[in-house]
Amino acid sequence: MLNIAITGGIGSGKTEVSNHLRDLGYTVIDADAISREMTAEGGKALPLIRAKFGEQLFREDGSLDRAAVREMIYNDPAKKALYESCTTRLVLDDIAAIRERSELSGEEVIFYDIPLLFETGTEGDYDAVWVVVTDTEIRKRRIRERSGLEDAVIESIMEKQMSDRYKINRADYVIYNNGTLDELHSATKKALKSFLK
Ligand code: ATP
Repeated sequence: MLNIAITGGIGSGKTEVSNHLRDLGYTVIDADAISREMTAEGGKALPLIRAKFGEQLFREDGSLDRAAVREMIYNDPAKKALYESCTTRLVLDDIAAIRERSELSGEEVIFYDIPLLFETGTEGDYDAVWVVVTDTEIRKRRIRERSGLEDAVIESIMEKQMSDRYKINRADYVIYNNGTLDELHSATKKALKSFLK
């Protein structure tokens, strides 16, 4: 079975590629969704977050106060790294467990949507890496339309991610996403053709 990771910067189009692959019948594991589960009610990461940061990040009902988390990590890289370390290992363990189960399912290929693939140094765990690349200005516009985030916030997130150049140099395949969704779907099918017999 082929394990293919899909990565790329914020707003590059990973989710759209993943959704199209799902429409075509493929399994795509979503690292962000797993990460969100870890910090949802009863999530596996909550005890560790509580141990590292205390009650300041929790509401009275015991749930994680995401606004407090954002405020804490926004301008403090050390705290951000410590906070992320509470979930990263657990997410990677969960992905490894899903992958083990999938190995037994007989599927030809499984995809993994992993935004921070290179940032977590886990690119070597996959048979191939696809990188989705979109011009910065187009990404900013799409992110603004999606979430209303201000340019300054988008730029500060982009600055903290590894550059497209870095990712392109290490990719097995690059999907460019400056055009329409139809064009992105065609590019995704083309990528599939070159990996599947
Ligand atoms: P993030 O890392 O923030 O999760 P992402 O890489 O998963 O982002 P998407 O959510 O797929 O990116 O795309 C960002 C936004 O741009 C979404 O609203 C999506 O619908 C839109 N979008 C992506 N590609 C295109 C396209 N080719 N044409 C029009 N809109 C697009």
